[in-house]
Amino acid sequence: MVGAARPISLEAAQKSGQFIALGDLRGIAVDLRYASANNFVGRDVYSPMDCAWLHRSAARALDQAQRSVVQALPGHQIVVFDALRPHRVQIALWQALQGTGLELYLADPAIGSIHSYGFAVDVGVLTPEGRELDMGTGFDAMQDESHPEFEAQMLAEGRLSQQHLTNRQVLRQAMLGAGFSGIATEWWHFDFGNKARIRAEEVRVD
Ligand SMILES: [Zn+2]
Repeated sequence: MVGAARPISLEAAQKSGQFIALGDLRGIAVDLRYASANNFVGRDVYSPMDCAWLHRSAARALDQAQRSVVQALPGHQIVVFDALRPHRVQIALWQALQGTGLELYLADPAIGSIHSYGFAVDVGVLTPEGRELDMGTGFDAMQDESHPEFEAQMLAEGRLSQQHLTNRQVLRQAMLGAGFSGIATEWWHFDFGNKARIRAEEVRVD
C-alpha cells in the first residue's frame, strides 16, 4: 500500500471533524512526550503541535478502554504518551534512530506509521497518586524487557516481576477489549483497526 497515503496538513486534520483532541475526553491523562524534551531525541519534535489527537473511532475506543481500566483498578486512569504523530515527526524520529540498531522500534517512513493516521496510541496507566503504574520499563525503553513477546522469558529470568506482568495485563485487556491490537515489541503501543485498510483508505497527517 506504499504510495496510497492521502496526506493532509495537521491544520486541515484538526478542522476536518475526523479527529478528536484527547484532552476533551474525561478521565484520560495526556503526557505528550514528543512535545517535550522527555523523549529519546531529547527535544520537542512536535512544536507547534502541543496536544494529542486521535481519529474519532480510535478515540471512542480509548474512552471505552479507560472505563475498563477504572473497573479493574478504581481511581486509576489511562495516560497517553503519543497519539496522532505527523509524518514529518515520523521522519525526524527515524533519522534519530538510523544506525543505532534500534530501528525495529519505529515504522519506516517509506511505509508509514499508523500513528500518522491517528489510529495508533501509546499508553500507560496512572495511579490515583498520579504516578505511572510500574510496567517494568518506561515508555520508549528500547530493550527486550519492553517486548510482550518475551514476557514469559523475562519473568523466568527475573528481569520482570509477576506484578509487572499483572499491571501490563490490566492495560492490555482494557485495550484489546475495546478493539485495539497490540504489537510484539512495545507494551505501550496499540493500533485500532486494520492497518492495510487504514494505509489504503484513511488520510495521513503530514
Ligand atoms: Zn506507538
